[in-house]
Amino acid sequence: MSKRALITGVTGQDGSYLAEHLISLGYQVWGLSRGQANPRKDRVSRLIPELRFVDGDLMDQGSLVSAVDTIQPDEVYNLGAISFVPMSWRQPELVTEVNGTGVLRVLEAIRMVSGINKPAATGDGTGQIRFYQASSSEMFGMVAETPQHETTRFHPRSPYGVVKTYGHYITRNYRESYGMYGVSGILFNHESPRRGAEFVTRKISLAVAQIKLGLQDRLLLGNLDAVRDWGFAGDYVRAMHLMLQQDEPGDYVIGTGRMHSVRDAARIAFECVGLDWEEHVEVDPALVRPAEVETLCADAQNARRVLGWEPTVDFTELMRMMVESDLEQARLARDYGEVLTGARW
Ligand code: NDP
Ligand code: GDP
Repeated sequence: MSKRALITGVTGQDGSYLAEHLISLGYQVWGLSRGQANPRKDRVSRLIPELRFVDGDLMDQGSLVSAVDTIQPDEVYNLGAISFVPMSWRQPELVTEVNGTGVLRVLEAIRMVSGINKPAATGDGTGQIRFYQASSSEMFGMVAETPQHETTRFHPRSPYGVVKTYGHYITRNYRESYGMYGVSGILFNHESPRRGAEFVTRKISLAVAQIKLGLQDRLLLGNLDAVRDWGFAGDYVRAMHLMLQQDEPGDYVIGTGRMHSVRDAARIAFECVGLDWEEHVEVDPALVRPAEVETLCADAQNARRVLGWEPTVDFTELMRMMVESDLEQARLARDYGEVLTGARW
């Protein structure tokens, strides 16, 4: 019998790569679909015809119970979130509801459908629905040590980071309180041609494509000194799946262990098309964040040792992949007189 998986956030970057990966492993995969006419649902179903959908929203407990009850999944991956950090200063309450209480709602749905009524820290994962939570390196925030590993102290610097920390701990708490099989992947930034246009790597790759074709002349960025550990999303979804295949549930840091600045990202991306970044990039102070995460770097030793996980795409290759994809789309948009929207696929 093939395994059954439910993915929240299937219309996002990671959800789409994870669905493809699980289907390639023989899973039957359902994605939670939100809203009455979500255009991203159409796009992901064109990309992955084998993917099925179930209606639901992380804001709606009943819909999550119904989704879990209908599908009876072996594995649930909670990737749904408002994932752009600056949104969490603009709409902190909404971000708390979706990214924080939403995690609790999925855990509660699994608990109710599984008939777990009393706290009892005895579950061994056998026959249970296994749960993956998308935790984030943003929880480390003002870093206490470099690189960061599973036991590095959290000091989140945005409402997004604070709320992800809640999701992380409530997942651990359901594991300890109810014996549920729940894990968190503490994933460092990961990108791809499907990354949202609001994130800095994709903002850069889209601008490079437009500038190369003469459709734009400058790119406004915020803090050029911010340093991230950027990897390829396709590599990171493999780690999510591996985490749920272990005998013992546990939390893992996932990243490449390599640091690059936003300045490096711009330089490498412009170099891909033979341009000098300094002739096109300007700093806009309005894009600098009220509280910044200056530097992040993963120590993913545990994931390498226990999961056997390794990243396969380095940062230069990643930026090249994104620039080439955006260049191709920008050419099509130009030739057919359309606006390049940054839509992910
Ligand atoms: P995306 O922004 O690409 O996707 C977010 C997904 O969440 C979309 O499918 C969106 O669906 C869905 N969503 C938003 N609101 C709700 C809601 N109320 N109910 C159900 N679904 C909702 O994010 P990524 O794929 O990049 O990230 C996946 C997860 O990993 C997120 O939780 C993110 O916070 C976390 N993460 C990401 C990192 C990264 O570098 N990419 C790093 C660490 C953690 P819709 O189409 O309906 O809007
Ligand atoms: P994050 O790490 O999840 O917040 O991912 P982002 O891609 O949004 O931001 C990564 C880093 O790039 C942060 O430190 C931002 O402050 C910095 N940055 C600098 N300029 C920009 C910009 O124009 N847009 C975005 N999104 N980030 C920028």
